[in-house]
Amino acid sequence: MNDVVEVLADLVRIPSVEPTQAGERAAAWGGEERVGKYVAAFMEAAGFRVEWQWVAPGRPNVICKGGADKPDRIWLVEGHMDTVGVEGMLHPPFEGAVREGKLWGRGAADCKGPLAAGMVACAGVDLAALAEKGEAIWFIGSMGEETGNNGARASLEVLPERLWRTIALEPTEAAVIHASKGFAVLEVDLEGRSAHGSNPEQGVNAIYAAGVFVERLKALCRESAERYGNELVGQPSVNVGLVRGGIAANVVAPTCHLEFDWRVVPPGSIAEVKSRIGTLLDDLKAQGLLLGWQLRQQQNNEPLSTSPDSGLVKALVAALQTAGLPGRRAGVRWCCDASIYCPRSDETVIFGPGSIKQGHASEEFIDVDELRRGTAALAGLWPRRRD
Ligand SMILES: [Zn+2]
Repeated sequence: MNDVVEVLADLVRIPSVEPTQAGERAAAWGGEERVGKYVAAFMEAAGFRVEWQWVAPGRPNVICKGGADKPDRIWLVEGHMDTVGVEGMLHPPFEGAVREGKLWGRGAADCKGPLAAGMVACAGVDLAALAEKGEAIWFIGSMGEETGNNGARASLEVLPERLWRTIALEPTEAAVIHASKGFAVLEVDLEGRSAHGSNPEQGVNAIYAAGVFVERLKALCRESAERYGNELVGQPSVNVGLVRGGIAANVVAPTCHLEFDWRVVPPGSIAEVKSRIGTLLDDLKAQGLLLGWQLRQQQNNEPLSTSPDSGLVKALVAALQTAGLPGRRAGVRWCCDASIYCPRSDETVIFGPGSIKQGHASEEFIDVDELRRGTAALAGLWPRRRD
């Protein structure tokens, strides 16, 4: 089997800071494209067919397919190739050195450690045996996770309607994450009618409507929290972060624009949240507080809610225990590419060695023993090739 520590060191030595955080160095570093080439060569050598999806110039998704050509069941194994920036880091970000049983560098935990674990585990699969079972592994190295999951979103265009089991690689301290919060970024335009400030009763003040809307929105979220409190991922929440409206102090405000994010807890869904907000806005209109409204969604990350008794969770827990790890099941409050894939996939989990606490931090490392064991656990999911 390939040595996962060497693969990770190679990946860390290729700077792939997400371009908006790389500044002037973005072009020189080459970033996601260079990591993509490494992933492609590695997976090709292991017998996978590689397809490139260019999401933006120099910013690919690398899609590596192994196993059955026309699979009945598709495993999607996905990890992101971009990292956050390196400002303020306390050690060399791209050295990839091992000290005190830890491999240090930007991305060691988020997400190159989990990515390397997935690559090495998949590269050791007996693809002919997998094909005989009617199964395939599609391994994706994706771009742009750190800024809105753009790579994962784009990959949906080239993925089949149904996936069987999806593993989103992220540092979970080798726990099997089967529940996570989702979130939606929403914006609403409220429409009133302007009038002179000396005769406000002749207008409909959209700013006043916004005031009532915000209070009702908070009440709606409290109600939702009573229904969907979840010990795994906490409670739903809402934050109104931007309000813009009106013309001048002496004009009744004809419009008001608000932007807010709503954190969704399973089994709630974003569609349900939107429909309840729509009903709320219709109510305000029926009361004459506004004349019209529009609700739009900027970003959609569905909550993850896979049964802890599902086949994927059980198989991964068993494989972890075989690899000498506890096989803990858990939920998380953060979001990752799993939110993009879970609506398409029968079963989805987030999994990987390393800790999210080191992601985005001034010191980033991964425990080498956990990296090796996490890789072995993943490898245990599929038939092995005898090298
Ligand atoms: Zn990540």
